[in-house]
Amino acid sequence: MGKTYDVIVVGGGNAALCAALSAREHNATVLLLERAPEAQRGGNSSYTGGGFRMVHHGADTVKTVVPDLSEGEIANTDFGEYTTEQYLDDLGRVTQYYCDPDLAEMLVLNSTETVQWLHGRGVRFVPRFGRYAFKHEGKFKFFGGTVVEAAGGGRGLVQAEYTAAEKHGVEIRYGAQAIGLIRGNGEVRGVRVFANGSEEEISAKAVVLAAGGFEANREWRARYLGPGWDMAKVRGTRYNTGDGIRMAIDIGAQPYGQWSGCHSVSWERYAPDFGELDRPITASRNGYPFSIMVNAEGKRFVDEGADFRNYTYAKYGRVVLEQPGGFAWHVFDSQVDHLLHDEYRSKGTTKVQADTLEELVAKMEDVNPPQFLKTVREFNAAVKRDAAFNPNIKDGKCTTGLGIEKSNWANPIEKAPFSAYAVTCGITFTFGGLKIDTATRVLDIADAPLPGLFAAGELVGGLFYFNYPGSSGLMAGSVFGRIAGREAAAHALGAEAKAA
Ligand SMILES: Cc1cc2nc3c(=O)[nH]c(=O)nc-3n(C[C@H](O)[C@H](O)[C@H](O)COP(=O)(O)OP(=O)(O)OC[C@H]3O[C@@H](n4cnc5c(N)ncnc54)[C@H](O)[C@@H]3O)c2cc1C
Repeated sequence: MGKTYDVIVVGGGNAALCAALSAREHNATVLLLERAPEAQRGGNSSYTGGGFRMVHHGADTVKTVVPDLSEGEIANTDFGEYTTEQYLDDLGRVTQYYCDPDLAEMLVLNSTETVQWLHGRGVRFVPRFGRYAFKHEGKFKFFGGTVVEAAGGGRGLVQAEYTAAEKHGVEIRYGAQAIGLIRGNGEVRGVRVFANGSEEEISAKAVVLAAGGFEANREWRARYLGPGWDMAKVRGTRYNTGDGIRMAIDIGAQPYGQWSGCHSVSWERYAPDFGELDRPITASRNGYPFSIMVNAEGKRFVDEGADFRNYTYAKYGRVVLEQPGGFAWHVFDSQVDHLLHDEYRSKGTTKVQADTLEELVAKMEDVNPPQFLKTVREFNAAVKRDAAFNPNIKDGKCTTGLGIEKSNWANPIEKAPFSAYAVTCGITFTFGGLKIDTATRVLDIADAPLPGLFAAGELVGGLFYFNYPGSSGLMAGSVFGRIAGREAAAHALGAEAKAA
């Protein structure tokens, strides 16, 4: 083996880069191994919209990370606030209270300060007007907790993080796939790597695993998420095949969290098998709270308006996959067309449009026409017409008397032109992974740390179950990545001090 690094970080996305930056900040020498080639670097983090869910108290907090927020923007925007208690409540509620309370608390309590830390390292943030705020009566009003995103989305975030990593002396190798952990004297001592067609061993005093989940591994999806999941489309990188998780389990790490669970969404039915970096989010179909969703039988199958989209979108991909044929259609009328984002208008969208519902369903591939028309008739008749429609609040405009009600935003589907969009399930990331403590040390089956091994990001289990509050993934990767870098550096430099 050649040079010994203080810390090797496995992975090249947001969690890895936060770990690498933080370890450097604590004086460690750092090697970052990114499996992808440079042009594809950044993992799923590159595909994100760059949203960060942090505790905030309105414009005052937003200004700490968006210092150029103008007086006009402040006057025209109701950022609301998002307290520690609300964040913890959301994590508990959407995960059916399975969420690990210690990890949840670390995430929430460190959220704002970590976004400020990233800002201090050159990541620019902007208010998240596009997707998390609707303009109502002349004023933007945010809903659902997330108010900032990295400028330039995920690509902007990752670009800024790589720039900072290079500036601060993190050594980076692309096309370098970690394939195993090396142990010696009861500690993790390095990583086996496959690069340039051959295997090599690189030694380190501590290793941080941040190599993402297993969503891009078709075989593991069918094995752990269940039958049918091999057919889901991967929204992001093709390189997250569970390597980091496997490497840790191979040396005794404890599997943790919901291995049968994942984040998955409504996604363009005919999207490619993996994400494409130059069109990161155009296959998303997030306008369904204003739609009715129907399956091949022409039936509704879910409460489209159960909550704001960022509290339901991550679990509705699974519901779509469970439908006959694994697809569905989002159906809208012209009353809500203006609320649909550009993703519904992008190239490659499977859209049909017509002036009557009969013509519409004739164009909706693989849908039962008589049942569809019956479904719409019954839905329209069940809508509470005297309630006002308001996309910014859970408006209570609901249906009554249906087998599956729509709880909010239930506009009748009656004003031409009508449109429908074909969707399937797009998997974002998996929930199962490794068990860590609040210092990000990877734990074995007896809950004892595996010395020298740390983990952060998507490959950590225990935070998300069944569902996920939108924009918590980057936040969790940043919070725990930063802690992992600090702790790995302390371990490495402590080891050095002991050896001297
Ligand atoms: C389309 C899309 C939109 C999203 N939008 C948001 C959003 O707006 N806000 C939000 O919070 N979350 C969002 N997410 C979720 C978010 O992407 C993840 O929670 C987060 O990026 C995970 O970061 P990570 O660093 O753990 O993993 P990743 O960013 O996926 O990084 C994993 C890295 O590990 C590398 N790797 C894998 N195996 C190996 C190996 N053997 N050796 C070396 N390297 C390896 C990969 O190449 C990659 O660089 C979105 C996800 C997708 C797909």
